[in-house]
Amino acid sequence: MTRTDTGAGAAVAVLAGQRLELLDRARIYACGITPYDVTHLGHASTFVWIDALGRMLRFLGVEPEVCRNVTDVDDVLDAAARRAGAAYDEFAAIQQFQFDRDMAALHVRSPEHEPRAHRYVAQVIRLASGLLDAGFAYSRQGSVYFRGEDVAGQVGLDRAEALRLMGEFGGRPDDPAKDDPMDVAVWQAGEPGHPAWDSPWGRGRPGWHAECAAMAMSVFGPAVDIHTGGVDLRFPHHAYHAAMAEAFTGVRPYARAWFHACVVTVGGAKMAKSAGNLVLVGDLLAARSAGVVRLMILDRPWGQSWDYRPALLDAAAARLDTLYQAAARNKPNDPAAVDALRRLLADDLNVPAALDLAVEAGGAAARTLAGVLGLT
Ligand SMILES: [Zn+2]
Repeated sequence: MTRTDTGAGAAVAVLAGQRLELLDRARIYACGITPYDVTHLGHASTFVWIDALGRMLRFLGVEPEVCRNVTDVDDVLDAAARRAGAAYDEFAAIQQFQFDRDMAALHVRSPEHEPRAHRYVAQVIRLASGLLDAGFAYSRQGSVYFRGEDVAGQVGLDRAEALRLMGEFGGRPDDPAKDDPMDVAVWQAGEPGHPAWDSPWGRGRPGWHAECAAMAMSVFGPAVDIHTGGVDLRFPHHAYHAAMAEAFTGVRPYARAWFHACVVTVGGAKMAKSAGNLVLVGDLLAARSAGVVRLMILDRPWGQSWDYRPALLDAAAARLDTLYQAAARNKPNDPAAVDALRRLLADDLNVPAALDLAVEAGGAAARTLAGVLGLT
């Protein structure tokens, strides 16, 4: 991001090459967790980066308003709850509590809004009705499907790759009830083993992308300034969320900017319970301070995937110690150094360069950066 003062307090920012003019407020939708499993380093990376984005905007004089949803109506969660012998909502509430505890321990600020999907079923039904009325969806066998043949093309994906991702993320491309494999359920007809609600199309449950679209529109209206989340949610989840919102409201674009936090791998592989390579936040914080874990996550480009290894924690601890020593230096205030920090953080969240500058300048600049990054 690059900020230029206009003299009236407005900030001009660029995220991933995209200009974003902000006056004094930024609406940020953070695609939150599906509360069915313990918090691992991949979650921590996503939500620490989103937290850092909000803190940096505040440093630029822009007040972030974050909406981080909870996807507590979800097929994966249903399956996990069944395995645990628990009701889906009770299971989700317990997992959510553990997630909140881990986020607080990582100094991640609580969002201003935290909608839970199960409280937005009525809004999803209204969304489905609106899409049907406008011809963007059709109802069949108790489900309502959103016409999605153009969505992959709009985000630059070819159809074969889009179909593969659709299958991987529960989009049921083989569902024979659909006109096109790229169509997705706004409303899914009821099935055994899943929660169900009454609707004009019979009992059923909201579709995943429609839940987030309904929650975002309910909280923020037709558009947001920045939509964030893990990069693996880019397609189909975020692409369909945006397409449904735009079809429903006619307001384009739904999101002025996208902020997709990088993937963290272990030994080159994506972290997954099935792979047995989860690095748990609780384990990291039992051995290291939140400042060290946050610095390991943030001292790099936000969009670039990286591979975790324990030596990175040692490096982050040494870097944090250097910053603390610089912060303890007794130096006269240096507004030019703080301004330079602001410019670097505004430059696409260039944390590594900001850290170098803060260590060199020392004093107030180092203390300011430690505060902005939540390292103290
Ligand atoms: Zn979402």
